[in-house]
Amino acid sequence: MKFGTKVVHAGVEPDPSTGAIMTPIYQTSTYVQESPAQHKGYAYARGANPTRNALQKSLAALENGKHAICFSSGMGATDAVIKLLSPGDEVITSHDLYGGSYRMFRRVFEKYGIKFHFTDLTDLKNIGPLLNDNTKLLWIETPTNPLMNIVDIKGAVDLVKKKKVIVAVDNTFASPYLQNPLDLGADIVMHSVTKYLGGHSDVIMGALVTNDDKLYQDLHFIMNSCGAVPGPQDSFLVLRGIKTLHLRMERHCFNGKIVAEYLRSHPKVGKVYWPGFSDHPNHAVARSQMKDFGGMLSFTLKDDSIETATKLMESVKIFSLAESLGGVESLINHPASMTHASIPKEERIKNGLVDSLIRLSIGIEDSEDIVADLDQALKGL
Ligand SMILES: *Cc1c(COP(=O)(O)O)cnc(C)c1O
Repeated sequence: MKFGTKVVHAGVEPDPSTGAIMTPIYQTSTYVQESPAQHKGYAYARGANPTRNALQKSLAALENGKHAICFSSGMGATDAVIKLLSPGDEVITSHDLYGGSYRMFRRVFEKYGIKFHFTDLTDLKNIGPLLNDNTKLLWIETPTNPLMNIVDIKGAVDLVKKKKVIVAVDNTFASPYLQNPLDLGADIVMHSVTKYLGGHSDVIMGALVTNDDKLYQDLHFIMNSCGAVPGPQDSFLVLRGIKTLHLRMERHCFNGKIVAEYLRSHPKVGKVYWPGFSDHPNHAVARSQMKDFGGMLSFTLKDDSIETATKLMESVKIFSLAESLGGVESLINHPASMTHASIPKEERIKNGLVDSLIRLSIGIEDSEDIVADLDQALKGL
């Protein structure tokens, strides 16, 4: 099946008892058994729920994987991956990670004796010196937030394969429409389903997808033991969202390109970060591992001050000033004072997160209205 067919059909079938074409919301905590040792595949809903199962089948199909497991948030999914490790194990990851992942690695799991190395993964030469017999996990995020850096997934997999290092990819920004890390050799794909997969800014959820039976068993055991599972109502909403994923992504990409090119030609704009530009440092890698370049981009202002950036963000009308991304509506966000406020200023600026940096999640509205909104806001500066 091609992607556009899978989003509509994979994992879902008419309800066997009624023929209902839409997967019912099985709002139940337990299942009645005929005898103590026998059940119909469902015993208690932390372990399994039919609505969630349908969603898991759909997600596995979208990532060309065998197994998917849903969690109550993207962080819940990430937490389960780190719980595969033991004290003394080491992880290699990038320094421009999603802030919540960085916080969990440093402030939750370092206490349990797991060591994290943060480096620049856009240059694969940085991996070698950090690899040793304790290295158990390579955690990749690409494109990164908010500077849209690109990491070569296949290149990284080839480097660590012999060492039996698990390669996990946070595929949230790309969505399965743009990029399929399992096809590039990764062992686990993680999604904040909250973003493009859900797509309507109404659900918090996470997921893991893998082809490896042993990893699946271990992750499923952690899911059932630790219990960060989503409810059936949310699973239904995501199943519904997924049916238009390909159409939404096409429009996100179309609008993203128009906005990136518009901003780049604007005299008041400084840098524009978008992997679709041919002079983006890893444009060739983006071109080879992604189908298109997505609707996420960031830019700076020539007048690089928090005040000017704030003025712009207060004068947009179609964009909503909010954290998160990947929904149908366009969002504007200020990393320095919102998502990345916890990073010390010096370190933040060293990493390119200057005061005027603004991140956009371009929605699926009419591109002319989106550009006109940015235009009137930039005029007022
Ligand atoms: C939002 C996000 C997460 C965390 O997901 P939640 O669903 O908010 O827990 C992880 N990684 C990336 C790249 C994200 O954007």
